[in-house]
Amino acid sequence: MNLIQSDLKYIWHPCSQMKDYEELAPIIIDHAKGLYIYDTQNKPYADVVSSWWCNLLGHCNERISDAIKQQLDKLEHVIFANFSHTPAINLCERLSKKIPKGLTKFFFTDNGSSAIEAAMKMSFQYHYQTGNPQKKKFMALSDAYHGETLGALSVGGVDLYSEIYKPLLLDIVRIEGPDCYRCKYGNFRDYCNAECFENAEKAFEKYGYETSAFLVEPLVQAAAGMKIYPPAYLKKLRNCCNTYNVHLIADEIAVGYGRTGKMFACEHAQISPDIMCLSKGLTGGYMPMALAVTTDTIFNAFYADYNDGKAFMHSHTYCGNPLACSAALEVLNILDEEDILEKAKLNGEYFHTLIQETFSNHPYIGDIRNIGLINAIELVQDPSNKKSFESKKRIGYEVYKEALKMGVLLRPLGDVIYFNPPLIIEKKDMDLVTQVCRSAIKNILE
Ligand SMILES: *Cc1c(COP(=O)(O)O)cnc(C)c1O
Repeated sequence: MNLIQSDLKYIWHPCSQMKDYEELAPIIIDHAKGLYIYDTQNKPYADVVSSWWCNLLGHCNERISDAIKQQLDKLEHVIFANFSHTPAINLCERLSKKIPKGLTKFFFTDNGSSAIEAAMKMSFQYHYQTGNPQKKKFMALSDAYHGETLGALSVGGVDLYSEIYKPLLLDIVRIEGPDCYRCKYGNFRDYCNAECFENAEKAFEKYGYETSAFLVEPLVQAAAGMKIYPPAYLKKLRNCCNTYNVHLIADEIAVGYGRTGKMFACEHAQISPDIMCLSKGLTGGYMPMALAVTTDTIFNAFYADYNDGKAFMHSHTYCGNPLACSAALEVLNILDEEDILEKAKLNGEYFHTLIQETFSNHPYIGDIRNIGLINAIELVQDPSNKKSFESKKRIGYEVYKEALKMGVLLRPLGDVIYFNPPLIIEKKDMDLVTQVCRSAIKNILE
């Protein structure tokens, strides 16, 4: 049996209709370097989705690989209750200098969803232990994405992922979130005062008293199709959370680590959340690890004699894994020593201009949105009335397959094609992937 046959015999791939693999066989990747992943025939694919948004500094980055190799022969893993190690300690010390002020305590988990779960439990338990046991609800935006485990899926608002599980999910206060492309107030993304926040205000008035936390993806609802909204919304949200004693949980799993042009998206709004969740870019895309970072105020509500029963009795076997921590630490070294955020900013400006030039006035592109190095184009049937294609046509998926033939990995979100490349992408590669995307859309639609 060849590799593809064996793959299909044994492996159930994530987020896939396995029947699609009859037509598009799994692409077996043999090795990778920088922006490129190479299949077993040595065909390169430009990975402009950073392998699910986690690859931050290119594949097989020598510095990160070396850091892991060094750590590997010293300590591979150790129980993290009562025990600790240098990579974890150094990582937290370094991150504490970069993270928005007030975030001082680092809780480790081993993937993004589990960081969200930890944050939700932490928030609920905080209120329970500070005299507000009625605070049991969570608020979240329409089109939110916070992961796939049941708690995280509950706060998510993308039906594609959660619809069927509704009977199993927590009851959430769902707030109609910003939708700048189809703004109901007739505003424009870059010139508005987040009038749509009134939906959240009403929800706070009604449910604020019984709400534990509001979860939000700062500035970019990524899985929803890279929906970008203005910082003004976050500022208002921070204020409202303060008024109603509701925690603000910032899910920076996708947007943290320079993706939006700043280290953390919250910085655009100059706000600090009560809990910030990090993963994906955290280890440069090398190892599964996540963090829920919180404040002294929350931490102190758990600090008591053991028999008071206030401890946070939450753990994951692989939390604080030393290999992952050493990768994460090296990522910070590289960001600092190689001035990566500054380079990413310049790359972002170049890429945005290029995308704008290539795709504006295109007969099937309704919206071009951009922040930092994230660029997205929304394919629609008719830009004049913003009408989407029938979802059955799977236009985005067709464009994806076409671009793959030409060696570019552009896995879309519905009919939104996006670019979310490693921060170190080069100009020639931005030129290449934009051209391939242009041709792929042409071949499918024109
Ligand atoms: C990917 C993602 C998650 C979930 O992280 P996993 O590691 O896939 O569980 C949560 N929130 C956001 C915003 C994400 O992009």
